[in-house]
Amino acid sequence: MTAPGDAGHRSGRRARRTVEGVSVPSSAPPSTASAKPSRTPATTPAPAGPSTSTGTLDDVVDLLRGRRVAVLTGAGISTDSGIPDYRGPDSPPRNPMTYQQFVGDEAFRRHYWARNHVGWRHVHRTLPNAGHRALVQLEDAGVVTGVITQNVDLLHEDAGSRNVIDLHGRYDRVICLQCGRVISRAHLADRLDALNPGFVESVAGSVADIEIAPDADAVIEQTSHFVPASCEACGGVLKPEIVYFGENVPRERVDRAFALVADADVLLVVGSSLTVMSGLRFVRRAAKDGQPVVIVNRGATRGDDLATLKLDAGTSETLTALVDALA
Ligand SMILES: [Zn+2]
Repeated sequence: MTAPGDAGHRSGRRARRTVEGVSVPSSAPPSTASAKPSRTPATTPAPAGPSTSTGTLDDVVDLLRGRRVAVLTGAGISTDSGIPDYRGPDSPPRNPMTYQQFVGDEAFRRHYWARNHVGWRHVHRTLPNAGHRALVQLEDAGVVTGVITQNVDLLHEDAGSRNVIDLHGRYDRVICLQCGRVISRAHLADRLDALNPGFVESVAGSVADIEIAPDADAVIEQTSHFVPASCEACGGVLKPEIVYFGENVPRERVDRAFALVADADVLLVVGSSLTVMSGLRFVRRAAKDGQPVVIVNRGATRGDDLATLKLDAGTSETLTALVDALA
């Protein structure tokens, strides 16, 4: 989901793919969703494909009141912080970079790192918004038990949320694909600056055209002279510690997220169109277990037919209202 939709690179060829085809990564096959036993007895009938119940804010408040809530967030919660949601209703389909592209193509990696080197600084400066802060208040009030986020921007942590699972990784860390060593993105930035003196400044002139993607990517055309860094310990290929399309979310992380959902009374999805299975599987599991699912998102989501309640609304305004009503 991290997808630097690579506007200038291959997009022509791949643009014909459907949104659905682009959005479903091989990282999380649907079969994993049913790998663990349901906590409900087999005699309990599965929710019989409930038609989506489009609700009001009051309906959501009524459903959440007195219940412990696990929250799943997507790019929609960060849009108010200035990080665009490429899957929002007003956004064109993006062509996510795949893990295979990153690993298999040195030129692609150079291009990627050049853009990332500019873009990550933008994410670094981004501040949490009212939606992030509201989730902190709801956690403090004992309403929210934890947050699973598909975002890599760390804005939940910055806001003060304590129990956060960064499902798709985090932008501030880099991992060596060969030896597994993890370093900070800030440390890598120093190295890249040393290897590419003046690079960031050289593209600053076109900064108005730089498009910032959710994974700290930025669109820059001239990157062929960029020198990427390799692992200081073993010379291996470095990759942001972010889960790409075609890559698995680490199993331990998935299990923790499933446990967080199972431990709560309700699953609240905020600002995600649930286009990737890595997030949708939590909705499927909750629905299968008879756990209420509430979705707050602008536009349709892939989980709408599994939701107990769907609220087509913005995240900041809705979460702020939930604080007023519940915290
Ligand atoms: Zn290494």
